[in-house]
Amino acid sequence: MSPPPWKSGLQERKAAPPTPPLRLRFRFRVAFQVSRLPPPGYLSRRPRALRTNLGNMGKQKKTKKYATMKRMISLRDQRIKEKERMKTKHKKEEDPSTMKEREIPQYPSCLFFQYNTNLGPPYYILVDTNFINFSIKAKLDLVQSMMDCLYAKCVPCITDCVMAEIEKLGQKYRVALRIAKDPRFERLPCSHKGTYADDCLVQRVTQHKCYIVATVDRDLKRRIRKIPGVPIMYISNHRYNIERMPDDYGAPRF
Ligand SMILES: [Zn+2]
Repeated sequence: MSPPPWKSGLQERKAAPPTPPLRLRFRFRVAFQVSRLPPPGYLSRRPRALRTNLGNMGKQKKTKKYATMKRMISLRDQRIKEKERMKTKHKKEEDPSTMKEREIPQYPSCLFFQYNTNLGPPYYILVDTNFINFSIKAKLDLVQSMMDCLYAKCVPCITDCVMAEIEKLGQKYRVALRIAKDPRFERLPCSHKGTYADDCLVQRVTQHKCYIVATVDRDLKRRIRKIPGVPIMYISNHRYNIERMPDDYGAPRF
């Protein structure tokens, strides 16, 4: 049987190498298996992505530049004349020995465990907006209930901020507004900026320790409690109660 035509020429040109003796062939194979060299044909079996990158190596990518501008030197550059150059800002060198200043309100410690003797009678009571609203809901007359609580004359005080707050509440709270405008109430004008009633009351109480604060607002109560010497009036059990006052003042608490 003759070989096919495309094979016949090849075989003719390339003389078959003499086959090595059997022992040598065996050794050769063993040597290949043991060595750590990559097997022949390794490069051609690399993943496609790596193969294609190989040809690109060492070349830099070129992107077309557009909208390029002439570079400008900064106004602080050394090459500009001293007169025309912008002056460099010198940072203030901080002295590490100076203490960092923080504002923490300081309260007198003398009032922490003692009763504030600046308080009445008559007691001046700063009234919060919600205190009036809750009093209306509980059908309590403000001045009368205050006196029932403290057994002494009480003067409810309304600051401009609180009044503004009630006015802002609108038509639904017109009863509260009418109560706040009661002639028995004292008006306290505000000179600070802003009309946030909570801040207003806290500020007043911090500066002048001659007031009781009447509120049902939990957050405001929490803030007032941090200031020593300021009792808090609140509503519970359909009557007014007072916090942080000696027990022998006013009505019995429960
Ligand atoms: Zn105010």
